[in-house]
Amino acid sequence: SDTMQNSTVDQLRQWDNDHVWHPFTPMEAYKSEEAPIIESGEGFELIDVEGNRYLDGISALWCNVHGHNVPEINLAIQNQLGKIAHTTLLGMSSTPSIELAKRLVDLTPKSLTRVFYSDSGSTAVEAALKMAWQFHRQKPSGPEERDLFGTVSGAYHGDTIGSVSVGSIELFHQVYGKMLFQTVSVPSPASVHSSPSETRDREVTDCFDQVRNIIEEYGSRLNAFVIEPLVQGAAGILVHPPGYLQHVRDLTKKAGIPLICDEVAVGFGRTGTMFACEQEDVEPDLMCLAKGITGGYLPVAVTMASEEIFSAFLGDPSAGRTFFHGHTYTGNPLGCAAALASLDLLERNSVIENAKRIAGVLEDELQLLRSHPHVTEIRQKGTMVGIEFVRSRTPLERYPATRRTGHLVTLAARKRGVILRPLGDTVVLMPAPAMPEELVKKLCRVVIESIDEA
Ligand code: PLP
Repeated sequence: SDTMQNSTVDQLRQWDNDHVWHPFTPMEAYKSEEAPIIESGEGFELIDVEGNRYLDGISALWCNVHGHNVPEINLAIQNQLGKIAHTTLLGMSSTPSIELAKRLVDLTPKSLTRVFYSDSGSTAVEAALKMAWQFHRQKPSGPEERDLFGTVSGAYHGDTIGSVSVGSIELFHQVYGKMLFQTVSVPSPASVHSSPSETRDREVTDCFDQVRNIIEEYGSRLNAFVIEPLVQGAAGILVHPPGYLQHVRDLTKKAGIPLICDEVAVGFGRTGTMFACEQEDVEPDLMCLAKGITGGYLPVAVTMASEEIFSAFLGDPSAGRTFFHGHTYTGNPLGCAAALASLDLLERNSVIENAKRIAGVLEDELQLLRSHPHVTEIRQKGTMVGIEFVRSRTPLERYPATRRTGHLVTLAARKRGVILRPLGDTVVLMPAPAMPEELVKKLCRVVIESIDEA
């Protein structure tokens, strides 16, 4: 066996505890949890240094599309590696970044013609915010000093200062308040999810009206309106009512406010179409893509822009209209090669068809939980599922935060060889769009057992 000897495993665990500061992880508790140390991946499974296998129930934090160690993507990266691993996009170009840009322009809504590369979802959002800001100061119709961004409450757009500013998940935002810039937000049309059905329709209508109100009141001050199309992922898979995205697009278009669609989580098949915008025929002015763009292999992100936005950045170099943004590893050729291979596989293996099919499997298999005394809601859009726990359904009584119910379910699932990820009292399931039906059934079975145990 090529798994490690016990002494080496203990050493790794010690060094992990002593030196690795894990993201979004309470580090005091982490030490005692003996979290898996992953050494390899095979299909939809992760294998740790002790040889234990885990079904990857969250697509490696929502980015994996085709499984791990996929020969076609490995080969594409190896081929590119034989040419060059990295070269800059600042003032020059590289073959895979050009080819990927062309593919993305052909695939995405036709309003989007320009591709700006970065490395993560957060930076794709950060770039979109700066583009929108600068656009108003440089547009041909005359400069405007707009000072706000419009957002949806409970949004998550990343963890850099700009992307945190336009998000508002309380758990992640309490600490950094004073570092952030100002936004105006509309209530999430999904936050009314636990209202009784007789009031729900009226509340949803109110949410539609709120978009109109905000735009009437602040429209001329808004640099852009930012939205996670169809579903707010990190808020716990909060699904928007049909027509909401289209409504936001109509109103922002009429008011001349650029719309930023953050497709970082939903892009590349997760909601059952290549991009979520397609489902409401929405053409954004800016679109952010990351996570699944490389099939979950390498850190590549893009901000796509319309020709109108892009052209405000043209002019004599001395005029200072350049977009002043760009990271060292922007448009990395290995990442772009992986992305091209992933796009080929999406088509060749009919992955989106599979995503639609397994969305049905998730819905059927999780039916059992609908009557569970501690499950208040199962929210689902395509392959994205959030299961929320409460102490009591009627009357509605939540658990104290110290109970960490999502975390407990995650630990119980891990013992059973399945990786999940908690968000407070919600546990998220996000099988890769290409996961076969039998594995999705196994995932659901283990989730149900783990909820019962926890
Ligand atoms: N936008 C959305 C909608 C996301 O769900 C995420 C991550 O979960 C991000 C942005 C940030 O992406 P990253 O973690 O790659 O910076």
